[in-house]
Amino acid sequence: MTGTVVRKRFIAGNWKMNLDRASASALVATLREHLASRSDVDVAVFPPFVYLQEVAQALAGSPIRVGGQNCCDQPVGAFTGEVSAKMLADVGATLVIVGHSERRHVYGESDELVHAKVHAALAAGLDVILCVGETLAERERAATEKVVGNQLRRGLEGVTARDLPRLTIAYEPVWAIGTGLNATPEQASQVHGYLRGVLTSLYDDRLAGGLRIQYGGSVKPSNVHALLSAPEVDGCLVGGASIQAESFLSLVKP
Ligand code: PEP
Repeated sequence: MTGTVVRKRFIAGNWKMNLDRASASALVATLREHLASRSDVDVAVFPPFVYLQEVAQALAGSPIRVGGQNCCDQPVGAFTGEVSAKMLADVGATLVIVGHSERRHVYGESDELVHAKVHAALAAGLDVILCVGETLAERERAATEKVVGNQLRRGLEGVTARDLPRLTIAYEPVWAIGTGLNATPEQASQVHGYLRGVLTSLYDDRLAGGLRIQYGGSVKPSNVHALLSAPEVDGCLVGGASIQAESFLSLVKP
């Protein structure tokens, strides 16, 4: 049944800690101009927190959504340096990336913390891109499915069937992020198919079949077509190629 469901493609640009105010503003002006009438694809950009409000204002009324790259697991209080999901919503974000591999591996975020952030984001009214992915060592010892399956199950614990459609899953193998090495379309398809099976076991065919699973990891103009043509790949989460208008726009081409 899941094979017959049509899922609208979703291309998301994670700017990470790149760009400055002027280049962010120039980038969104160009994206807005070129994507104003595209309804066949969903597009979102994820600027650094400090530019989020300005970017959201520049994209207001356009089909391009704006999100946070991360959020705090707590709603309010003495958490120096953190930004709550509600604050993101307050400045115009409608979604947030949770569990990005740089958060998990550079800043040591655990599955428990990622899970708490998913719930904090949903409670604040944000949609969520939940990232999962294995390291190279885990792939080499054939632990990919175990690792991503556990990350997915843990991240979704307590997420109701009603809230599930507010999520997108991003499969981002750690060894492919920012390295220039991408998963092959076959590798991506195989893991996406596995993740969809986990979703079916947690919810049901209909809900699992409706959820989008993005691929992320060194997506660029030269490999995007093959990746997006692969079964089960419903879009991509893009880092490096999302911070220049020309490369990002070529990823979004029909
Ligand atoms: C990312 O930031 O999620 C990502 C996939 O980065 P890159 O496209 O640069 O590998």
